[in-house]
Amino acid sequence: MKILMVNVPFSGHVNPTLALASELTKRGHSVSYILTKDWKDRVEESGAEFIPYIGHEEYGITFRKGKPANIWKALKAWRYVYDSIVAVGSDYDLLIYEFFTYTAYAAARKIGIKVVRQFSTFALNSGITAEVLQSSNLEIKLMKNDFFMKVISKIACGKIKLTTGNIISEIANTPVDLNIVYTTSEFQINSEAFDESYLFVGPAIAPRKINLVIPYGQMQGKIIYISLGTLQNEKKELYRKFMEAFAHVEGISVIMSVGYHTDINELGEIPHNFFIYSFVPQLDVLKHSQIFITHGGMNSVNEGLYYQNKLLVIPMDMDQFSVADRVEELGVGYQLKEKRLDSKLIFDKIKKLEKDSQIEMRVKSMSQHMRDAGGVVMAADKIEKLVE
Ligand code: UDP
Repeated sequence: MKILMVNVPFSGHVNPTLALASELTKRGHSVSYILTKDWKDRVEESGAEFIPYIGHEEYGITFRKGKPANIWKALKAWRYVYDSIVAVGSDYDLLIYEFFTYTAYAAARKIGIKVVRQFSTFALNSGITAEVLQSSNLEIKLMKNDFFMKVISKIACGKIKLTTGNIISEIANTPVDLNIVYTTSEFQINSEAFDESYLFVGPAIAPRKINLVIPYGQMQGKIIYISLGTLQNEKKELYRKFMEAFAHVEGISVIMSVGYHTDINELGEIPHNFFIYSFVPQLDVLKHSQIFITHGGMNSVNEGLYYQNKLLVIPMDMDQFSVADRVEELGVGYQLKEKRLDSKLIFDKIKKLEKDSQIEMRVKSMSQHMRDAGGVVMAADKIEKLVE
């Protein structure tokens, strides 16, 4: 089978899809992946052929403080994706896109190719989108405004004809034959609202090459892993609060991933029980840690649960508020509001989390669901059937 994959260059959206690309190439399918040049190596590691945005081979997005440094430039990604699919898509049997790359649906309709959609967050329909967008965050509030979204859609899409004219409904309300969702039906909000075209496969766990050796042997007691993901991670003050909370605490070691834009030297004296890096092999770290302090990125939370970590979620943006609510609702962790944080509160919450045997039991059970969900192997089986 000749498969075309496509995405916009955001780690949280790309990471799980690379595991699927890898599974499909392992099965002998020919997979090409359209992305920006900074993803070339990761795409090729998965066994897929890398195709840069056609006509915009040098295009890339720089991030600062969790947001694209140039929003107008970033918005062009969706047009480039569309143009690239239209240029080469008819040579392929199937297009696999990630929901956030919503212009892919319009491109697939234009060239008449079958599509599979992936969700790196909750599966979305109108009801769930409204729930996920329920937030005090101004940007999220604006997304609920149809007029505002139609204007943004026009700016992002130009002449591309969306089926619905509004990015949010284009994401949630367009019918595709198969949806792959990288969480379990147990973690999904309102999973019974989704028919059998939605496949809940759990987190996409696949080896990722990172050349970093973490000295687990030097760590004593419980290991807490802290990461605020790949976008909202320029948080020096917050990292200092974590350091203050657990500095030299007997029986606790902390692995902290602070992102490439945080200068580790500016964090002050590093306590002997802290191991701080710009980026870590997260799946490997989660195998060693017991508690995960996370910003509530959907990938991170699912990966944490897969590896039986109790969660402390500090949501910051977008779907992270609903992910944090879901974590509490399912009793697999707690959440704290970023604004009200101090080191004592963090410490007390972690102590409470450590002692909570109910949470431990539920995390174990959720981890089993994640392991039983089928992963990218089940996703690939379904994709093969779709094109038979
Ligand atoms: N990640 C990683 N190492 C790090 C930090 C993050 O491998 O040091 C990976 C993590 O495993 C996850 C992704 O980056 O797959 C982050 O996605 P998520 O949805 O959690 O958050 P986002 O970065 O999109 O906010």
